[in-house]
Amino acid sequence: MKIAVIGTGYVGLVVGACFAENGNDVICVDNDQTKVRGLQRGRIPIYEPGLEELVRRNRAEGRLTFTTALDRAVRASQIVFIAVGTPMGEDGSADLQHVLDVARDVARAMKGYTVIVDKSTVPVGTANKVREVVRLQTTHPFSVVSNPEFLKQGAAIEDFMKPDRVVIGAEDPRATDIMKELYAPFTRTGAPIMIMDCASAELAKYAANAMLATRVSFMNEIANVCDALGADVDQVRMAVASDRRIGSSFLFPGVGYGGSCFPKDVKALLRFSQDARYEFGILRAVETVNEAQKARMLMKLDAHFGSLKGRHIGVWGLAFKPKTDDMREAPSITIINGLLARGANVHAFDPEAEQVARGIFGSRIVYAPGSYDAVTGADALVIVTEWSEFRRPDFARMKRLMRAPVIFDGRNIYNPATMRALGFTYHSVGRP
Ligand code: NAD
Repeated sequence: MKIAVIGTGYVGLVVGACFAENGNDVICVDNDQTKVRGLQRGRIPIYEPGLEELVRRNRAEGRLTFTTALDRAVRASQIVFIAVGTPMGEDGSADLQHVLDVARDVARAMKGYTVIVDKSTVPVGTANKVREVVRLQTTHPFSVVSNPEFLKQGAAIEDFMKPDRVVIGAEDPRATDIMKELYAPFTRTGAPIMIMDCASAELAKYAANAMLATRVSFMNEIANVCDALGADVDQVRMAVASDRRIGSSFLFPGVGYGGSCFPKDVKALLRFSQDARYEFGILRAVETVNEAQKARMLMKLDAHFGSLKGRHIGVWGLAFKPKTDDMREAPSITIINGLLARGANVHAFDPEAEQVARGIFGSRIVYAPGSYDAVTGADALVIVTEWSEFRRPDFARMKRLMRAPVIFDGRNIYNPATMRALGFTYHSVGRP
């Protein structure tokens, strides 16, 4: 099939490359010229495992191309995906400016029947808005489809190639058939293609993210109660997870959720529920708990040191989660800003996010070239992101390098008893 994907970010690039991998002809469009020029030369602007190879192969075979010329891409395509950002507006709502701009440009460019697919995460009612914008600009027939994306950064290709489900909001049979055919190769293992109305498809994406964010905040509160009462959240978690009605995913306490999706999607769901005169009580609390959880790590450091002024604090992990370089709304930002505000000197290491971090902190922190460099001379180490390479460090070497063997583990990646035996002062989340 002939496909255009507008917006070549974390979602658009993965989606475009994966559709090409399944034999479709894909043109990826972005209005960021530098990004497109880089992609035309094989430079991948983000870190996502497996993506570089996938893009290279499909470019070489001529199925995947990159351009800034939206009109030509649209004219050459039967299906156009809108995968641009929907950032958080000032009042918490999803900002639809990019989506609606692209819809208008697509409408002006199309030359025959086109399926316009909302891939971006958009509030309920957006498919109708897109339909209106398009209708005003063209006399050609078209369908608007809502096809929210559920991939996880860090495992995006695997998630897209083998989805748990494909959700399609479509209100006419022609578009439904085209979307079913497009996704058929991705669902051969039995994953369902769920066809529904656009409003339900739009809400399904927010509901999934809000549910996951709720689990995170819930477990963070359980961990805080463990801290207060001397229980062990690992034991509690395993007992809870063994209940098949609950399951084991997303039950790990930590320093709060971040990323480009949960914070903004929780806010947007709160906002559009409120616009519909519904106060989403649980979700308000999920957000409050998450903010408090990020601050809690700083409170633990305050309690340990009294004053952090002049202290050298090593930080492991800057990305909002492992296997990505994305730092949008990362807890590391709150924690590092808090450390800097208290007068600490921060030496941070992340395997992939250093360049992104430079754009955020500039010269206010030291960018260590490796994990051991970050802790050399440190009064404490704070672990913010659980990259696998942090899981089995040489503790004896760390002890020799650090000024004091103190670790604040925001991701519970070590065993408290082992750490005690090794002579570390070890603080984790919800474990005695
Ligand atoms: P991103 O910021 O990485 O990418 C968006 C891209 O769109 C950028 O490259 C930008 O230059 C481009 N763009 C903006 N306006 C444009 C225009 N008018 N014409 C052409 N290109 C334009 O964002 P992302 O993380 O890929 O997210 C995109 C959407 O997908 C969002 O709605 C997000 O909520 C949703 N989503 C993201 C994830 C994720 O893990 N990142 C997962 C599921 C859904």
